[in-house]
Amino acid sequence: MAKFNIHICPVCNGNEFSTFLTCTDFFVSDEKFDIKKCNSCGFKITENIEDENNIGSYYQSENYISHSNTTTGFVNSVYHRVRKYMLGRKRRLVEKTAAMQTGNILDVGTGTGFFLNEMKEYGWHVTGIEKSDDARKFAKSEFNLDNLPTEELFKLKEKSYDVVSLWHVLEHIHQLKENMDTFSRLLKTDGKLIIAVPNHDSYDARHYKEYWAAYDVPRHIWHFAPDQMKQFGEKNGFKLMSFHTMPFDSFYVSMLSEKYKKSSFTLFKGIFHGTISWMESLLNRGKCSSVIYVFEKN
Ligand SMILES: [Zn+2]
Repeated sequence: MAKFNIHICPVCNGNEFSTFLTCTDFFVSDEKFDIKKCNSCGFKITENIEDENNIGSYYQSENYISHSNTTTGFVNSVYHRVRKYMLGRKRRLVEKTAAMQTGNILDVGTGTGFFLNEMKEYGWHVTGIEKSDDARKFAKSEFNLDNLPTEELFKLKEKSYDVVSLWHVLEHIHQLKENMDTFSRLLKTDGKLIIAVPNHDSYDARHYKEYWAAYDVPRHIWHFAPDQMKQFGEKNGFKLMSFHTMPFDSFYVSMLSEKYKKSSFTLFKGIFHGTISWMESLLNRGKCSSVIYVFEKN
């Protein structure tokens, strides 16, 4: 089977890399994957993964569904409360950056549809793209959303969206350039592109190293820090307008990382290190566990 490997850095076109970390897929397979680092810009890439036609098996976990439905367990319970809060925060961020109360939004990798449902309830015209059949079925039955499979993305009408959003999705996409070109084509002239991804320059990433839950190999192919995301946007015809923190990710990712380390006192230690991460992000937004980037077309 063909493996997916990158020899030219998608951020800076550099072609020299060194091994950065060897990480374990704690979520599904327990297999190990190397992450390499671009020697020029520091961008990090998971090596030797399955191509997009064959990576599906690494997404088959009961945990994905329980993520959406279960309310048992403290971490899940916190997760649900936080999600409710974050949905409102995301919507307000979209409204503020687009400078409109309603408009057309395309959410790529929309998952089970919670975010798009929030936008729809506040009057937005919504289009969702989602690879997983199960997630699309969930969104239909729960929210009556008619989300589309991935191949439909490339058939959508150009210059028809005020906002294109990807919440923790870009790091999963094999064909970065093809997708960025498509987002540019689909956005209106003054449209905004919103991308949230984990930040490998955060305190929690530096602290947990190969146990950092947001490396999430092999599902996360690309690992950005703010400088690299800015450069990546520019390379693809976008200008970075602003970036924002996702403070709860500091806690959630730290707790999950402690679980992967099989620590005792997982919760306590996760909250402790999550707090340090969060406090550092108050001083410097570029150090948050996850960062939301807002781009406009150049
Ligand atoms: Zn590079």
